[in-house]
Amino acid sequence: MNDSNRVRVRFAPSPTGYLHIGGARTVLFNWLLARKHGGTFILRIEDTDRTRHVEDSVRKILDDLRWLGMNWDEGPEAGGESGPYYQSHRLDIYKTHLERILESGAAYYSMETREQLEAMRKAAKREKRNVTYVRPSPLPTVEEGRKARDVGHPVVVRLKMPNEDITVRDDILGEVTLAADQLEDFVIQKSDGFPTYHFACVVDDALMKVTHVLRGQEHLMNTPKHIAIQRALGFSTPRYAHLPVIFNMDGSKMSKRDKEKAIKKGLQPPEIDVHDFRAAGYLPEAVLNFLSLLGWSPGDDLEQFDLDRLTSMFTIERVGKTNARFDREKLLAFNTDWSARLPDARLLEAFKDYLSINPELPQSLRQADDALLSQVLDACRGFRTFADILTKAGFLFVDNEAIQYDPKAVKKVLAKNDNAGYDMLRALQPKLESIADWSAVSLEELVHTICEEKECKMGQVAQPIRVAVSGSTISPSIGVTLTLLGRDCTLARIKRCLSESM
Ligand code: GLU
Repeated sequence: MNDSNRVRVRFAPSPTGYLHIGGARTVLFNWLLARKHGGTFILRIEDTDRTRHVEDSVRKILDDLRWLGMNWDEGPEAGGESGPYYQSHRLDIYKTHLERILESGAAYYSMETREQLEAMRKAAKREKRNVTYVRPSPLPTVEEGRKARDVGHPVVVRLKMPNEDITVRDDILGEVTLAADQLEDFVIQKSDGFPTYHFACVVDDALMKVTHVLRGQEHLMNTPKHIAIQRALGFSTPRYAHLPVIFNMDGSKMSKRDKEKAIKKGLQPPEIDVHDFRAAGYLPEAVLNFLSLLGWSPGDDLEQFDLDRLTSMFTIERVGKTNARFDREKLLAFNTDWSARLPDARLLEAFKDYLSINPELPQSLRQADDALLSQVLDACRGFRTFADILTKAGFLFVDNEAIQYDPKAVKKVLAKNDNAGYDMLRALQPKLESIADWSAVSLEELVHTICEEKECKMGQVAQPIRVAVSGSTISPSIGVTLTLLGRDCTLARIKRCLSESM
């Protein structure tokens, strides 16, 4: 990587849904490599498989990439000299290269019926062969292929695999060789005229002058095919680096299906897509920091880095070969640290994003002004994710009548010891009504004075108020809780709570 100015990398998602968290790790490593070398990060949408296309997923992927801060230099919306960046807009380009490869004899039209292909599969199984497709002899000519297609036969184009082993020189895994007898003539153009992923990907990597292909290890076995296409088309081979697979802590592969499995078992589905983490109240800073350590390590105990640090430290040489484990507890710890470290303005921006993408949250919270949101954030310092803020301060944003009293809290704090908590509330009511200065400091002072007067603990005064106004035993400090709520709401809620005790 000496000629650093020429580094060109790409992320090439297929629009089949939201961006998977593993895809985000691929984005990050590509992005870091480009930024480190002052290179170019390209975003290319691989949308030639119409059967797997999911409506609106491009917009969602772009939106989540932006949320992560993974900006692209060339691609949708950004433009660039190697466009268009949607494969579905490049069909003429693939046609040209396909004609070229057909004319050269390195590829051929293949016209087997479904039944013939099935028979080949069965024969290969019987004979315990790795490859199933048997190249016809003699091969159909280009003219025969075209004619068959014209009359509506299902005709595909296959690459004629050279009878030789193919070695991938991988920057992470070293040399990986696939023996010639494992490589069969595979399809490069489907019967609908669309190129397959392999063909489109190779043509684009070449025309977009991609120098390094960093992608998940699940693509490793595709790479010999890609090299074969490059050779047939006279393209050079970029450098390859296949990133370790991401596993759950129980050793199973982390996949989108984990969500369905959890739902079937009646469990809360785990976050899998970037959007899930975003909607669950994680910070992009923490997610990226965590993802950076899935397969890569800086070589010492350092664990917390922002993108600038990561960019300066990142090298492919320090990406390991072994599988990475997705430790959710660790991510939660990272998020807690990042929440505590981020400047207030940045935290507010991230919180507003969280509110904007969660329409089921209380409208009064979603529409609250910056000043109130900042106070709420401040009052909840120490939270793990933004969702914790809802647990701790959500009661501020519901109507007085809608407060749900947690029966356990009522029992423990209000009803226990012969309704001691309710009695305390009754005693407090006039004092709160008459307090002149409704500020956190003077409200805390009032609670202290009452503690001294009654010779009781802080909790015996503060907790009944807390339960009365929030419905639970968790809220910010009592002074802050009551100031955020305001005098009228506080008194109304205490009144309602007392009326329900009778
Ligand atoms: N569209 C492919 C995918 O989403 C890209 C693979 C590659 O990076 O070559 O898996």
